[in-house]
Amino acid sequence: MAEIINGKIVSEKIRADIRCEVQKLKATAGIIPGLAVIVVGGDPASAVYVRNKHKACLDVGIESYQIQYPDGISEEELLRKIDELNLDDRVNGILVQLPLPDNISEKRVIERISPEKDVDAFHPINVGRITVGNYDFLPCTPAGIISLLDYYGIEICGKRCVVIGRSNIVGKPMALLMTERNATVTLCHSRTLNLDAICREADIIIVAIGKAEFLRADMVKDGAVVIDVGINRMENGKLVGDVAFDEVSAKASMITPVPGGVGPMTITTLLKNTLLAAKLHIMGHI
Ligand code: NDP
Repeated sequence: MAEIINGKIVSEKIRADIRCEVQKLKATAGIIPGLAVIVVGGDPASAVYVRNKHKACLDVGIESYQIQYPDGISEEELLRKIDELNLDDRVNGILVQLPLPDNISEKRVIERISPEKDVDAFHPINVGRITVGNYDFLPCTPAGIISLLDYYGIEICGKRCVVIGRSNIVGKPMALLMTERNATVTLCHSRTLNLDAICREADIIIVAIGKAEFLRADMVKDGAVVIDVGINRMENGKLVGDVAFDEVSAKASMITPVPGGVGPMTITTLLKNTLLAAKLHIMGHI
């Protein structure tokens, strides 16, 4: 039976360090790091994520500014708000909750956020800097997964890693970070042929596709480490991941549960990035 990789415990430990550092920053520089989260529309899943981010900020002493817009807001109005936040010294991090309504271009919105306040690391400048290994911010979910692997002492160097899903926010940067850590990485997607056989070769499998219980036991080799990024709400209200947890955990050596695995680490990395943005801001003024 696989050991559970507990994201709640790890993120609590990291948050304790962040809390101390936030207090130190306040005492020494008189600065309270601030995160602005913009939400457009009333998507219930987004509302839950935003509420969790707000609670996490309060928990570590980061100031949280929530800006809620109705569905009909124009792109111009949203971009104006981002311009305003870019200039606001109280705000070190800006996050626009995705997805956005169809009338608003995600690309233009992401590119409008100042790269120094882009704590999601979605801006093309930050993506480029990650690609060449010269970055300040790492994207929250992939960086949170690396922290989890490190915390549990899971060897990455030289291992065969399969990432399923190639989104800009999870899969692609995940493959980059695992490559940077000297894993041999295969990035799979919906057009990948022989996915089952590819997965069976993996020492570490990271699944981020948004399909409930997609990864079955016969796709996993004995002793593999399985990281489940997926969040899928079933009709009965239950949350499940992209991994068939019961059968895969009988075969894997270590596995993340859903909830309580990757999710808390994503938010913790966001807090870490906001603290870092505040520190970099202070350094820019010295
Ligand atoms: P996207 O929808 O942006 O991307 C999904 C990816 O999965 C695509 O690359 C797609 O391939 C691939 N895919 C879809 N079906 C298959 C299949 N049958 N076989 C192989 N690949 C497939 O998703 P995200 O990356 O944004 O999110 C993925 C999941 O992770 C979601 O459940 C989301 O809720 C969750 N999530 C969880 C977070 C957390 O903190 N725990 C944070 C962010 C996301 P193609 O490119 O070919 O279409």
